[in-house]
Amino acid sequence: MRGDAGDAERQAEAALRPRGLGDFVGQPQVRDQLSLVLDAARARGRAPDHVLLSGPPGLGKTTLAMIVAHEMRAQIRITAGPAVQHAGDLAAILSSLEEGEVLFIDEIHRMARAAEEMLYVAMEDFRVDVIVGKGPGATAIPLDLPAFTLVGATTRSGLLPAPLRDRFGFTGHLDFYTADDLTTVLRRSAAMLGIDAEPAGLVEIAGRSRGTPRIANRLLRRVRDWAQVRGSGRVDRAAARAALTVYEVDERGLDRLDRAVLGALCRRFDGGPVGLSTLAVSVGEEAETVEEVAEPFLVREGLISRTPRGRVASREGWAHLGLTPPGEPTA
Ligand code: ADP
Repeated sequence: MRGDAGDAERQAEAALRPRGLGDFVGQPQVRDQLSLVLDAARARGRAPDHVLLSGPPGLGKTTLAMIVAHEMRAQIRITAGPAVQHAGDLAAILSSLEEGEVLFIDEIHRMARAAEEMLYVAMEDFRVDVIVGKGPGATAIPLDLPAFTLVGATTRSGLLPAPLRDRFGFTGHLDFYTADDLTTVLRRSAAMLGIDAEPAGLVEIAGRSRGTPRIANRLLRRVRDWAQVRGSGRVDRAAARAALTVYEVDERGLDRLDRAVLGALCRRFDGGPVGLSTLAVSVGEEAETVEEVAEPFLVREGLISRTPRGRVASREGWAHLGLTPPGEPTA
């Protein structure tokens, strides 16, 4: 969900993006597997197989797509599912691709159905059928495409139709980062931005970044602001703690939305079970945002669980808010 990021945030993000696979921190399995795919493609002098990347926002899907292009010395074309609402939108992009180019489709699960079907053929046979005319007189004119690599990103691989999922030669699932990995990300970012930071300050930020590099980098900039305006200019532990209190990020890394969801679940719905849409309405958010942004982290932290009957707060979830559950949890 990068919709809420302003231009300045996007620029800051772009500046910190690792360019090569060697600079990409963490996710050892995905990195290793992807490096094999790329090395093999290079050895054969062919475009690599199509790559599907899944995982919560901010974990490095776009970054990896750019790395694929960088490592293959290829151009990259970037689009997103919501921008592909007609087959024609996709046909225009596909027919302008160059040999070996990487096509990155973010939020690929939100592409229109008709475009999806066109994509199947393009991925498998490097061909699009351009439909000319309408009704019974319509004819399909096949157009050959150069070999390209599709990199698709999705926060929810479960939403992709099987025929689409099956056409990716490699699927990488990105998981939340460890605090150690995030500290490494932050050390690199601080050095690139010329921020005077103490290791303990970076560890503190890493521990509150919801396992997400995008959030870690964003919090680093906010702590720097605090240090410059109200502190000694140095990003140390005290500056990190004080700044993150101002920005309503708690010790476990929960932000306002996370706490609103957990709070509503416990206070309004007695800990659940409650359905996603009811929960989302009660915090004034889209169901999709609650499901894709807040929930994966709350589940990972063991604060809530998803059950067939709805969302349920765990004992730890209640305890995090300083509350006691009424009787035994239903989960
Ligand atoms: P996504 O596409 O999954 O939402 P991005 O690829 O846009 O996430 O990553 C967000 C930001 O986090 C990037 O600008 C990049 O600076 C940083 N980032 C993500 N993954 C890593 C990583 N493994 N190592 C270093 N920085 C990373």
